[in-house]
Amino acid sequence: MKQNQVIKVSNETLKKMAAAYEKNKLSKSVPYTLFTAKTGTTTITAYNSGKVMFQGTGAEKEAQKWGNPTTSAKTANPSKSQQLPPGFDQLSVIGSDEVGNGSYFGPVTVCAAYVEKNMISKLKALGVRDSKELTDDQIIKLSHLVKELIPYRLLILEPKKYNEIQPKYNAVHMKVALHNQAIYLLLKDLAPVKPEGILIDQFTPEGNYRKYVRSEKNQVTEKLYFITKGEQYHIAVAAASIICRAAFLEELQKESNELGYTVPSGAGAKSDQVASRVLKQGGMDLLSNYVKLHFANTGKAQKIAEK
Ligand code: MG
Repeated sequence: MKQNQVIKVSNETLKKMAAAYEKNKLSKSVPYTLFTAKTGTTTITAYNSGKVMFQGTGAEKEAQKWGNPTTSAKTANPSKSQQLPPGFDQLSVIGSDEVGNGSYFGPVTVCAAYVEKNMISKLKALGVRDSKELTDDQIIKLSHLVKELIPYRLLILEPKKYNEIQPKYNAVHMKVALHNQAIYLLLKDLAPVKPEGILIDQFTPEGNYRKYVRSEKNQVTEKLYFITKGEQYHIAVAAASIICRAAFLEELQKESNELGYTVPSGAGAKSDQVASRVLKQGGMDLLSNYVKLHFANTGKAQKIAEK
Protein backbone atom coordinates (compact mmCIF):
# COMPACT_ATOMS: atom_id res chain seq x y z
CA MET A 1 0.00 0.00 0.00
CA LYS A 2 1.25 3.43 -0.89
CA GLN A 3 1.93 5.68 2.05
CA ASN A 4 1.81 8.99 0.22
CA GLN A 5 -0.81 10.38 -2.09
CA VAL A 6 -1.00 13.76 -3.75
CA ILE A 7 -4.08 15.01 -5.50
CA LYS A 8 -4.91 18.29 -7.16
CA VAL A 9 -8.36 19.68 -6.47
CA SER A 10 -10.42 22.70 -7.49
CA ASN A 11 -10.94 25.68 -5.22
CA GLU A 12 -14.46 24.46 -4.65
CA THR A 13 -13.31 21.03 -3.47
CA LEU A 14 -10.60 22.65 -1.36
CA LYS A 15 -13.27 24.59 0.51
CA LYS A 16 -15.35 21.45 0.99
CA MET A 17 -12.29 19.65 2.34
CA ALA A 18 -11.50 22.47 4.74
CA ALA A 19 -15.04 22.18 6.10
CA ALA A 20 -15.00 18.38 6.21
CA TYR A 21 -11.73 18.26 8.18
CA GLU A 22 -12.65 21.18 10.43
CA LYS A 23 -12.68 19.00 13.55
CA ASN A 24 -9.40 17.28 12.65
CA LYS A 25 -7.40 20.39 11.92
CA LEU A 26 -4.00 20.82 13.52
CA SER A 27 -3.15 24.24 14.85
CA LYS A 28 0.38 24.40 13.45
CA SER A 29 0.60 26.71 10.47
CA VAL A 30 2.79 25.70 7.55
CA PRO A 31 3.74 28.19 4.83
CA TYR A 32 1.51 28.03 1.74
CA THR A 33 -0.99 25.72 3.36
CA LEU A 34 -4.69 26.23 3.84
CA PHE A 35 -4.79 23.66 6.62
CA THR A 36 -3.23 20.53 8.01
CA ALA A 37 -5.40 17.86 9.58
CA LYS A 38 -5.04 14.38 11.06
CA THR A 39 -7.63 11.63 10.86
CA GLY A 40 -6.67 8.31 12.41
CA THR A 41 -3.42 7.32 10.71
CA THR A 42 -3.53 9.91 7.93
CA THR A 43 -2.11 13.41 7.89
CA ILE A 44 -3.61 15.75 5.33
CA THR A 45 -1.82 18.87 4.11
CA ALA A 46 -3.79 21.18 1.82
CA TYR A 47 -1.81 23.80 -0.08
CA ASN A 48 -3.27 27.09 -1.30
CA SER A 49 -2.35 25.94 -4.81
CA GLY A 50 -4.96 23.17 -4.67
CA LYS A 51 -2.42 20.42 -4.08
CA VAL A 52 -3.38 18.13 -1.22
CA MET A 53 -0.99 15.64 0.29
CA PHE A 54 -2.10 12.58 2.24
CA GLN A 55 0.49 10.82 4.37
CA GLY A 56 0.23 7.66 6.46
CA THR A 57 -1.19 4.17 6.18
CA GLY A 58 -4.71 5.39 5.35
CA ALA A 59 -3.50 7.90 2.76
CA GLU A 60 -4.70 6.14 -0.35
CA LYS A 61 -8.20 5.53 0.94
CA GLU A 62 -8.59 9.04 2.29
CA ALA A 63 -7.30 10.64 -0.92
CA GLN A 64 -9.73 8.64 -3.05
CA LYS A 65 -12.62 10.45 -1.39
CA TRP A 66 -11.52 13.68 -3.06
CA GLY A 67 -9.77 13.06 -6.35
CA ASN A 68 -7.29 11.11 -8.43
CA PRO A 69 -3.62 11.04 -7.57
CA THR A 70 -1.23 13.05 -9.70
CA THR A 71 2.44 12.29 -10.09
CA SER A 72 3.48 15.74 -11.23
CA ALA A 73 1.93 18.91 -12.56
CA LYS A 74 3.53 18.18 -15.93
CA THR A 75 1.57 15.01 -16.47
CA ALA A 76 -1.52 16.50 -14.87
CA ASN A 77 -1.53 19.54 -17.13
CA PRO A 78 0.17 18.58 -20.38
CA SER A 79 -1.23 21.62 -22.16
CA LYS A 80 0.58 23.99 -19.84
CA SER A 81 4.15 23.08 -20.72
CA GLN A 82 3.32 23.47 -24.40
CA GLN A 83 3.20 27.21 -23.89
CA LEU A 84 6.95 27.18 -23.30
CA PRO A 85 9.56 26.74 -26.03
CA PRO A 86 11.14 23.26 -26.15
CA GLY A 87 14.11 22.86 -23.82
CA PHE A 88 13.03 25.92 -21.88
CA ASP A 89 14.41 24.57 -18.61
CA GLN A 90 17.94 24.72 -20.06
CA LEU A 91 17.77 28.33 -21.30
CA SER A 92 19.09 31.49 -19.61
CA VAL A 93 15.98 32.77 -17.90
CA ILE A 94 14.66 35.36 -15.46
CA GLY A 95 12.21 33.79 -13.03
CA SER A 96 9.92 35.76 -10.81
CA ASP A 97 7.74 34.92 -7.84
CA GLU A 98 6.11 36.53 -4.81
CA VAL A 99 5.33 35.66 -1.19
CA GLY A 100 3.17 37.12 1.55
CA ASN A 101 0.05 38.04 -0.29
CA GLY A 102 -2.06 35.65 1.77
CA SER A 103 -0.43 36.40 5.10
CA TYR A 104 -2.05 38.94 7.44
CA PHE A 105 1.21 39.83 9.18
CA GLY A 106 4.28 40.70 7.17
CA PRO A 107 5.06 42.26 3.81
CA VAL A 108 4.55 41.18 0.23
CA THR A 109 7.93 40.28 -1.22
CA VAL A 110 8.66 39.83 -4.91
CA CYS A 111 11.87 38.60 -6.47
CA ALA A 112 13.10 38.38 -10.04
CA ALA A 113 16.23 36.25 -10.41
CA TYR A 114 18.38 35.55 -13.46
CA VAL A 115 19.83 32.10 -13.98
CA GLU A 116 22.22 31.82 -16.86
CA LYS A 117 22.25 28.37 -18.44
CA ASN A 118 25.71 27.52 -17.13
CA MET A 119 24.50 28.13 -13.54
CA ILE A 120 21.58 25.70 -13.68
CA SER A 121 23.45 22.59 -12.59
CA LYS A 122 25.29 24.46 -9.84
CA LEU A 123 22.03 25.71 -8.31
CA LYS A 124 20.53 22.24 -8.56
CA ALA A 125 23.53 20.79 -6.76
CA LEU A 126 23.09 23.36 -3.99
CA GLY A 127 19.56 22.06 -3.44
CA VAL A 128 17.59 24.86 -5.06
CA ARG A 129 14.09 23.54 -5.68
CA ASP A 130 10.44 24.20 -4.88
CA SER A 131 10.52 26.21 -1.65
CA LYS A 132 7.41 24.36 -0.46
CA GLU A 133 9.62 21.29 -0.07
CA LEU A 134 12.12 23.15 2.12
CA THR A 135 12.05 24.10 5.79
CA ASP A 136 12.26 27.74 6.83
CA ASP A 137 15.86 27.25 7.99
CA GLN A 138 16.86 25.65 4.71
CA ILE A 139 15.21 28.48 2.79
CA ILE A 140 17.12 31.15 4.69
CA LYS A 141 20.45 29.35 4.30
CA LEU A 142 19.89 28.70 0.60
CA SER A 143 18.80 32.27 0.03
CA HIS A 144 22.15 33.59 1.29
CA LEU A 145 24.04 31.22 -1.02
CA VAL A 146 21.88 31.91 -4.06
CA LYS A 147 22.08 35.68 -3.63
CA GLU A 148 25.86 35.48 -3.91
CA LEU A 149 25.72 33.44 -7.08
CA ILE A 150 23.15 35.05 -9.32
CA PRO A 151 21.81 38.52 -10.18
CA TYR A 152 18.42 39.29 -8.66
CA ARG A 153 16.12 42.13 -7.65
CA LEU A 154 14.08 41.84 -4.50
CA LEU A 155 11.21 44.20 -3.67
CA ILE A 156 9.72 44.29 -0.19
CA LEU A 157 6.39 46.02 0.23
CA GLU A 158 6.11 46.59 3.95
CA PRO A 159 2.68 46.66 5.59
CA LYS A 160 2.70 50.41 6.20
CA LYS A 161 3.24 51.16 2.53
CA TYR A 162 0.95 48.30 1.48
CA ASN A 163 -1.88 49.83 3.51
CA GLU A 164 -1.33 53.19 1.86
CA ILE A 165 -1.60 51.91 -1.68
CA GLN A 166 -3.95 48.96 -1.19
CA PRO A 167 -7.17 51.03 -1.52
CA LYS A 168 -6.03 52.20 -4.95
CA TYR A 169 -4.67 48.90 -6.28
CA ASN A 170 -6.42 45.56 -6.03
CA ALA A 171 -4.28 42.62 -4.90
CA VAL A 172 -3.61 41.42 -8.46
CA HIS A 173 -2.72 44.85 -9.77
CA MET A 174 -0.31 45.30 -6.89
CA LYS A 175 1.43 42.00 -7.64
CA VAL A 176 1.65 42.84 -11.33
CA ALA A 177 3.23 46.21 -10.51
CA LEU A 178 5.81 44.55 -8.23
CA HIS A 179 6.72 41.73 -10.64
CA ASN A 180 7.00 44.17 -13.52
CA GLN A 181 9.20 46.52 -11.54
CA ALA A 182 11.51 43.78 -10.22
CA ILE A 183 11.96 42.40 -13.73
CA TYR A 184 12.48 45.86 -15.19
CA LEU A 185 15.22 46.67 -12.67
CA LEU A 186 16.91 43.32 -13.18
CA LEU A 187 16.90 43.73 -16.97
CA LYS A 188 18.61 47.09 -16.48
CA ASP A 189 21.23 45.48 -14.24
CA LEU A 190 21.86 42.76 -16.81
CA ALA A 191 22.09 44.93 -19.92
CA PRO A 192 23.52 44.42 -22.47
CA VAL A 193 22.97 40.75 -21.59
CA LYS A 194 19.42 39.69 -22.43
CA PRO A 195 17.64 36.65 -21.01
CA GLU A 196 16.20 34.11 -23.45
CA GLY A 197 12.93 34.20 -21.58
CA ILE A 198 11.17 35.63 -18.53
CA LEU A 199 9.04 33.17 -16.59
CA ILE A 200 6.50 34.51 -14.12
CA ASP A 201 5.02 32.12 -11.63
CA GLN A 202 1.47 32.66 -12.76
CA PHE A 203 -1.04 34.22 -10.39
CA THR A 204 -3.48 35.73 -12.89
CA PRO A 205 -4.35 35.09 -16.56
CA GLU A 206 -1.82 36.53 -19.00
CA GLY A 207 -4.33 39.01 -20.43
CA ASN A 208 -4.99 40.38 -16.99
CA TYR A 209 -1.27 40.76 -16.27
CA ARG A 210 -0.71 42.63 -19.51
CA LYS A 211 -3.71 44.87 -18.87
CA TYR A 212 -2.31 46.02 -15.53
CA VAL A 213 1.22 46.41 -16.89
CA ARG A 214 -0.14 49.02 -19.30
CA SER A 215 -0.76 51.38 -16.40
CA GLU A 216 2.85 51.10 -15.20
CA LYS A 217 5.54 53.62 -16.01
CA ASN A 218 8.25 51.09 -16.92
CA GLN A 219 6.69 48.28 -18.88
CA VAL A 220 8.24 44.88 -19.56
CA THR A 221 6.17 43.14 -22.20
CA GLU A 222 8.53 40.98 -24.25
CA LYS A 223 9.64 37.35 -23.87
CA LEU A 224 7.16 36.91 -21.02
CA TYR A 225 5.87 33.45 -20.16
CA PHE A 226 3.31 32.63 -17.52
CA ILE A 227 2.84 29.28 -15.89
CA THR A 228 1.62 28.02 -12.53
CA LYS A 229 4.14 26.01 -10.50
CA GLY A 230 6.80 27.83 -12.48
CA GLU A 231 9.57 26.37 -10.31
CA GLN A 232 8.97 23.05 -12.08
CA TYR A 233 9.70 24.59 -15.46
CA HIS A 234 12.82 26.61 -14.71
CA ILE A 235 15.10 26.75 -11.69
CA ALA A 236 15.15 30.57 -11.92
CA VAL A 237 11.62 30.61 -10.52
CA ALA A 238 12.68 28.29 -7.69
CA ALA A 239 15.62 30.60 -6.93
CA ALA A 240 13.40 33.69 -6.98
CA SER A 241 10.91 31.94 -4.76
CA ILE A 242 13.59 31.02 -2.21
CA ILE A 243 14.90 34.60 -2.10
CA CYS A 244 11.51 36.22 -1.59
CA ARG A 245 10.36 33.54 0.85
CA ALA A 246 13.50 34.11 2.96
CA ALA A 247 12.94 37.87 2.84
CA PHE A 248 9.36 37.38 3.99
CA LEU A 249 10.46 35.18 6.89
CA GLU A 250 13.13 37.70 7.89
CA GLU A 251 10.58 40.53 7.85
CA LEU A 252 8.21 38.49 10.04
CA GLN A 253 11.11 37.91 12.42
CA LYS A 254 11.80 41.65 12.44
CA GLU A 255 8.16 42.32 13.32
CA SER A 256 8.36 39.76 16.11
CA ASN A 257 11.52 41.36 17.47
CA GLU A 258 10.00 44.83 17.47
CA LEU A 259 6.81 43.72 19.19
CA GLY A 260 8.51 41.36 21.59
CA TYR A 261 6.33 38.38 20.69
CA THR A 262 6.04 36.02 17.75
CA VAL A 263 3.82 37.07 14.86
CA PRO A 264 2.43 34.21 12.77
CA SER A 265 2.33 33.84 9.01
CA GLY A 266 -0.98 32.99 7.36
CA ALA A 267 -4.33 34.49 8.18
CA GLY A 268 -5.86 32.17 10.75
CA ALA A 269 -7.19 32.52 14.29
CA LYS A 270 -3.67 32.88 15.67
CA SER A 271 -3.25 36.04 13.60
CA ASP A 272 -6.45 37.49 15.11
CA GLN A 273 -5.17 36.80 18.62
CA VAL A 274 -1.77 38.37 18.07
CA ALA A 275 -3.27 41.36 16.27
CA SER A 276 -5.64 41.99 19.20
CA ARG A 277 -2.59 42.16 21.40
CA VAL A 278 -1.01 44.77 19.11
CA LEU A 279 -4.28 46.73 19.14
CA LYS A 280 -4.39 46.81 22.93
CA GLN A 281 -0.83 48.01 22.94
CA GLY A 282 -1.02 50.80 20.37
CA GLY A 283 -4.31 50.79 18.48
CA MET A 284 -4.72 50.84 14.73
CA ASP A 285 -1.74 53.16 14.29
CA LEU A 286 0.59 50.51 15.62
CA LEU A 287 -1.21 47.63 13.93
CA SER A 288 -0.97 49.26 10.52
CA ASN A 289 2.83 48.86 10.65
CA TYR A 290 2.57 45.09 10.89
CA VAL A 291 -0.48 43.77 9.05
CA LYS A 292 -2.50 44.08 5.86
CA LEU A 293 -5.39 46.02 7.30
CA HIS A 294 -8.01 45.15 4.69
CA PHE A 295 -7.98 41.46 5.69
CA ALA A 296 -11.02 40.24 7.65
CA ASN A 297 -8.62 39.50 10.52
CA THR A 298 -8.66 43.19 11.50
CA GLY A 299 -12.36 43.08 12.39
CA LYS A 300 -11.92 39.86 14.31
CA ALA A 301 -8.94 41.26 16.21
CA GLN A 302 -10.93 44.36 17.14
CA LYS A 303 -13.69 42.19 18.58
CA ILE A 304 -11.20 40.22 20.63
CA ALA A 305 -9.50 43.41 21.84
CA GLU A 306 -12.85 44.86 22.97
CA LYS A 307 -13.58 41.92 25.27
MG1 MG B 1 4.06 32.11 -6.76
